[in-house]
Amino acid sequence: MFPEIERVLIDQATIAARVHELGERIAADLLADVARTGHDQIVLVPILTGSIVFVADLIRQMPIKLSLGVVAVSSYPGQSIQSKGAALRGEIPRDLGGKHVLIVDDILDSGRTLGLICDLVAEQSPASLRTAVLLRKLLHGPRAVEVAADYAGFDIPDEFVVGYGLDFDGYFRNYPQIAVLRREAP
Ligand code: 5GP
Ligand code: MG
Repeated sequence: MFPEIERVLIDQATIAARVHELGERIAADLLADVARTGHDQIVLVPILTGSIVFVADLIRQMPIKLSLGVVAVSSYPGQSIQSKGAALRGEIPRDLGGKHVLIVDDILDSGRTLGLICDLVAEQSPASLRTAVLLRKLLHGPRAVEVAADYAGFDIPDEFVVGYGLDFDGYFRNYPQIAVLRREAP
């Protein structure tokens, strides 16, 4: 069905188990923040489009009261697989002040995407600000933007991956596991 896929890096069951763990841990940490600060509103800010599958699974492993405020960022114009920097598309939620905010993205690569959204959210003085990514690329050099993810599902080698929300040229987001594409057309 997907002849372009060369190999699976992380299978469905492994992803599900890890997302379950992350959801429980993040929920416990957020509840501790609520108890500590007295601020009781929790907002997840998924970065579209890549994080949609991850966030859909993650929130169903978090048995706490929360809301969603999505943001859209474009980072890979056309077919390029090189990080070109990040640009906000459209609006960022404007009501994050005094709330516990968790920014959610699919993958941390150069750090530009997460860095941009963290800065825009921080300007609103949230009660707390954390970041969660499913994947974190192990780079040889430093990140272009030094942002650390508070929660990362898996560390992966510096390879271009697709599936579970991640695309190549808009496709493969529905492939249920994390995979690497063939270099040449099949
Ligand atoms: P950064 O801004 O950290 O360089 O990159 C983060 C964004 O670039 C992610 O939200 C994702 O959309 C995209 N990205 C980075 N690495 C990959 C990859 O290996 N595969 C895919 N499909 N997208 C990636
Ligand atoms: Mg993305």
